[in-house]
Formats: sequence, structure tokens, C-alpha cells
Amino acid sequence: MGFWWYEVRLAAGVASLALVAGWLVGRPSVGLLVGALVYAGWQGMRLLRLLRWLQGGRLAEPPELPGVWGELAYLAHSQYLRARRRQRRLGERLKRYEATAAALPDAAVVLGRDHGIQWLNEAACRLLHLDARRDVGQRVDNLLRHPDFVAYLHGGDYAEPLVLSGLVEEDRVLQLHIVPYGQDQRLLVARDITRMHRLEAMRRDFVANVSHELRTPLAVMAGYLETLLEGSLDAGQRQALEAMQQQTTRMKHLVEDLLTISRLETGELEERDAPVDVPALLRSMLEQARRLSGEKQHELSLQADESLWLLGHERYLYSAFFNLVVNAVQYTPAGGRIELRWQRCDEGACFEVCDTGIGIPAQAIPRLTERFYRVDPGRSRAAGGTGLGLSIVKHVLIHHEGELQVDSTPGAGSTFRCVFPARRVCGPNDPQ
Ligand code: ADP
Repeated sequence: MGFWWYEVRLAAGVASLALVAGWLVGRPSVGLLVGALVYAGWQGMRLLRLLRWLQGGRLAEPPELPGVWGELAYLAHSQYLRARRRQRRLGERLKRYEATAAALPDAAVVLGRDHGIQWLNEAACRLLHLDARRDVGQRVDNLLRHPDFVAYLHGGDYAEPLVLSGLVEEDRVLQLHIVPYGQDQRLLVARDITRMHRLEAMRRDFVANVSHELRTPLAVMAGYLETLLEGSLDAGQRQALEAMQQQTTRMKHLVEDLLTISRLETGELEERDAPVDVPALLRSMLEQARRLSGEKQHELSLQADESLWLLGHERYLYSAFFNLVVNAVQYTPAGGRIELRWQRCDEGACFEVCDTGIGIPAQAIPRLTERFYRVDPGRSRAAGGTGLGLSIVKHVLIHHEGELQVDSTPGAGSTFRCVFPARRVCGPNDPQ
């Protein structure tokens, strides 16, 4: 508060001097007026110096000013120092972020309004063949022109990444993801997944080849076992051969399921999408389910909307729906109820299998579509299950843009629901 005292003392000093001088000349009021003018002029000069200093922008060197003006200069100077320190800290942090982003193994490209490139890292130059100097400011869709990428960029649905080969190099597979942030800003991240893709293809080919190779020996074994079982055998021999036949049948089912999955995974489906008469398909499935239920005498029923057909692969849809029906028959005790429903729903169309069976614990539900996952392995094997049924269902639904939903209460029953989008729905009389 020293500067206030300085100002008070200064004002009082000037006023008393002016008063004394005025009194000496016999005009104290004139003396006071002159004193006030001198004081105002003096303050004006100091204000001018302060203004010049502020305007000059040399805030690092504060002027020597007494009183209030000195205090103001001191405050402006310390604010300036604080801002400079903050700026330096932010600058360092920004440099660190830039260095980190530049060193990322994944390509990162910052896109502004109209998909213009604002910044990119080294990996973007390498993976996307972009140039940090030449391409900043250019529209990314003018430089990366693959139609799938352009559609993804303009589509605006970035929930899932886009996997693409041939974006810049024919044999490089890239996973591209766009992350919107800030105002009209997007981060394009690209990862090279060529190796992973190749390994995945090798794994798929291996499973498909092994399954295919196993088919013939299994068919030969099954044939011989059948012939042997037709001959005269003692009880022990018959029991052994029947056990072998049972296991051979299980292996055949396994091989067929594995082949189905690998065909679905590679997308090598022989048929094209066509309108499928789902109600008719379900009627024949109901007959088969009745035969399968046999002695268990389940109460089986079907409700199907006759006008509701689906665009898809009949064979694979049958396989998926039948897996759900077989499971309901297998995991529902004798006399239980199994209902099949095919109807319209909010999303489009929905196939539902509802049983009053043993149910599934909540923690097992997310794992049901994993290959070979079984809630009770002993029970599944005894029932002849391969552990691949729901995995097949999942893949068939992926091909039909559908989704599997499961509700279950242990001891009370389960509902498996296949939900298909409206764009897949068609009617019996729709043109193909
Ligand atoms: P599995 O050949 O063993 O039936 P799935 O992939 O078809 O293989 O099913 C995986 C597991 O899910 C089954 O082992 C069983 O534990 C459980 N499961 C499937 N459907 C039902 C159902 N309707 N009721 C109770 N459990 C079921």
C-alpha cells in the first residue's frame, strides 16, 4: 500500500506548496489552481510513459515509475512473466505430444473441415505415401482415392474401422479408423495389419485343409464300421464297434461344422443373396425337430408371418436356425415347451427360439459364440454337440447383417433371437 501513501504525500505536498505560494502573492485560490495544474501535468506525463511502455511491447523491461503508475507497471510486468512461463510450458508439452505422435508406429493424419490435411506423422508418410510438406492443406480424398475409403470418409459412420487392401500398395492391408474430435476435426489412424491378415488367412486355410483331408478317411471308416456292424458279432464286439461308430459320427459332424465356419469366414459362399421363403424353411425344420425330440416329447410350436421373407443364403440360414432348434431340443428336459417364432420387429425381422430348458448362467452368455465353448462340456459331448453350433450362428448372422440376442434364466429356459435389419426383409412377390 506504500504507493497510495506516496500519492497522498505528493498531492498534499503540491497542495501545501501551492497554497503557501498563493498566500504569499495574496491569491491562495490561484496558487491552488496552479498547483492542481502542475499535479495533473505531472501525473499525465507518468501515464504517458506507462502507455508508451505498454504499447512498445517491451514488457520484459519495466520503466522506473513511482507511485500508482509504478505499481501498474509492476503488475503488467509480472502478468507478462507469468504468461510467458505458461506459454513456454505449453510449447514444451505440445512439442512432446508432437514428438510422441510423430514416433507412433500407426499413421496419424489430422483432418480439418472439408477433409483437408492439417498435420501428419512420419508413419503416415510411410504407410499412406503422403508428404508432410507437399500434402498439408490438400483434401485427403484427393490423395487417397480408393472408392471404399472415400465412401467410409463421406459416410460419417466411424463406429467400426475399415479394413482395406490396395489403398496405396496392392499387397498391403490397412486398418483405417476415423476418430471425430473438437469442432469439425477428425483424426485418421491407419495401421498395417498385413502380417496379421496373412497369419489369419493361413490359420483359416489350415483348418479348412485339415477338415477337408479328414473327410475321406472318416467316410471310409464309417463305411467299414457299418459293414462290420451288419455282420454277426458277439455283444462285446458290437458294443466296441457301436462306440467307434458313434465317435466317427461325432468327428464327421465336427469336420462339417469346421468346414462351414471356414467357408463363412473366407466369405466363399457358393450362392448369391436371394429371397428366402423363411416360413417354408421353418415348417420343414419343425418336422425335423419333432423327429429329433423323439421320446422327449417336447411341445413344439411354430408361429410364422407368411408374408415375411428374407434376402440371404437359404442353406446357411437353415444351418443357423437349425442349430438353435437342435440346442433347444438338446437342452430342454422331456415334456418341455419349445416355440419357434418368425415375425416383424422394430429392427426388421426376427427369428426366435424360446425354450423351457435348463437355461444358461448370465456370466456364460457373452462367451456362447466362442468356438468350442460349452457351459457344461460333459453334457454337451454326451448330447453329441460339437461346441461349434453358436459360432456358426454368429458367422451366418454376420453375413446377413444380423445380430444374435440371448436371454436366459437358469432352470427356467432360454430365448435365442436372430434379428435382421429391415433392408434384408422382402416379401414373396417382391422382384428379385
Ligand atoms: P454345442 O454343440 O455344445 O451345443 P453350441 O455352440 O451350439 O455348442 O452351444 C454352446 C453352449 O451353449 C452349449 O454347450 C450349451 O452349454 C449352451 N447352450 C446353447 N443353447 C442352449 C439352450 N437352448 N439352453 C441351454 N444351454 C444352451
